[in-house]
Amino acid sequence: MTATKRIMSGMRPTGRLHLGHYFGALLNWVDFQSRYESYHSIVDWHALTTKYQDSHLVPQDIFEITLDWLAVGLDPEQATIYVQSAIPEIAEVHLLLSMITPQNWVEREPTLKDMVRMLAQDEAEAREKATYGLLGYPVLMSADILTFKGELVPVGKDQESHLEFARKVARRFNHIYSTEFFPEPKPEFTETPLLKGMDGMKMGKSYGNDIKIADTADETIKKVKTMVTDRTRIAKADPGHVDLCEVPWPWYKALADEELRKTVKDECENAKIGCVDCKKRLGGLIVDKFAPFREKREELAKNPDRVFEIIQYGNENARKVASQTLSQMRDIMGMPNWNKKQWFNTARMKV
Ligand code: SF4
Repeated sequence: MTATKRIMSGMRPTGRLHLGHYFGALLNWVDFQSRYESYHSIVDWHALTTKYQDSHLVPQDIFEITLDWLAVGLDPEQATIYVQSAIPEIAEVHLLLSMITPQNWVEREPTLKDMVRMLAQDEAEAREKATYGLLGYPVLMSADILTFKGELVPVGKDQESHLEFARKVARRFNHIYSTEFFPEPKPEFTETPLLKGMDGMKMGKSYGNDIKIADTADETIKKVKTMVTDRTRIAKADPGHVDLCEVPWPWYKALADEELRKTVKDECENAKIGCVDCKKRLGGLIVDKFAPFREKREELAKNPDRVFEIIQYGNENARKVASQTLSQMRDIMGMPNWNKKQWFNTARMKV
């Protein structure tokens, strides 16, 4: 099937990915890659907006995230996998877009306020941590998408507002320069099961409640044992309630076939199984599903040269698109591309 639309999405490199990343994004990316022209960016400049003091960790984190992406089936022959900082054109697109983006748009971004709140304990720390780069992250995110003229951006329903900023920037550029150069990126809504961390809270690396794609079978089973179940079920003889089962049941719904789901429901609600055994079975299910990914990841990790080549290949492809966008953008804005003839024409000078 011919890929018609271009899809763009990225992730910050912050270390090994967990299963929330898999179900929340990667599963869809793998599905999309045969249907769309796919661009996937490891957005390392975004990592610096909050972790600038840990910049020395970025190269390793890029390696880890690339292993995870490839292990779950992202195919570099179908999808362009690249590193944001290897494409300097994105930085210039960001700069040009920052010139046309009203300051109050970025200041009003609700996600920015949330990020500052998470980073800082008090006002003084917030002033220190809320850097110029962090303030500008919605513009950088817009540059990420618009440099590749991404028409579709895979998002969950709850993240739709993130994309609205890039849409507004595209509209403003097109309006100011009387053009239709930038497509307004549209959300490609993705269905993702709501899978919580082991403690029933949002899954996150920093909360210590996640299962990593790279976790071994033993590590996975150990973590699954700690999953919070139906808090009203005290003894094994008490009937459970799948609807009150905080973590294992949603995971069963995401991973088990219909027959197994029926069995679990019946065994739970009729007290035929205890939560310990139920979680042991779930652990096995998770291990079986992710074992092939982990094996592939381990193989790739032994060959960092190959991983580097894959990134390099993606960077080269991405750079071709980015430099074309930037050159056209400069033309539209009447900025010289430092080609003499074009410069003189732009300046309406006689050669
Ligand atoms: Fe959850 Fe299974 Fe326990 Fe039921 S038996 S509450 S589904 S862990």
